[in-house]
Amino acid sequence: MISAITKAFSNLLKKPYTCNYPVTPVIKPKNYRGLIKFNDEYCIWCDKCEKVCPPNAIIFKQFEDGHKVYNYNPYLCIYCGDCIRACPKTGDALWQCEEKGLPSISKDAPNDDWFILEKEAKQSRENYKAIKAAKKKS
Ligand code: SF4
Ligand code: SF4
Repeated sequence: MISAITKAFSNLLKKPYTCNYPVTPVIKPKNYRGLIKFNDEYCIWCDKCEKVCPPNAIIFKQFEDGHKVYNYNPYLCIYCGDCIRACPKTGDALWQCEEKGLPSISKDAPNDDWFILEKEAKQSRENYKAIKAAKKKS
């Protein structure tokens, strides 16, 4: 009991652990895991980031000529960094920035369009495989 009272009084004399946000900006740690950024100039299109992503927040859509388009869903991303660790061009093609939080949206269900895109992307990959196989046969 006495020790609890002593601790309570000693805490009164200490500086608060909390900061006066938003007046005082929060300083992020150096290894802060923010949004994923992508640069197609350095990407070798190996799909490793897509394969390791636990919630399927990265999806590549493929076109008939073989080229791919990167898609990222920050609303599904759990900021685990697995894609960064898997990427052979990490830092150039893919990196985790300090930008935190989600882009604002007006929709109630931001993932609805994503799930449509997911199906389209899967189909586009299958279509591309079929075109490639047909070309090999002929
Ligand atoms: S940080 Fe994790 S959840 Fe987010 S895109 Fe990369 S692998 Fe997926
Ligand atoms: S893992 Fe890196 S190089 Fe491979 S597709 Fe993803 S971003 Fe591109």
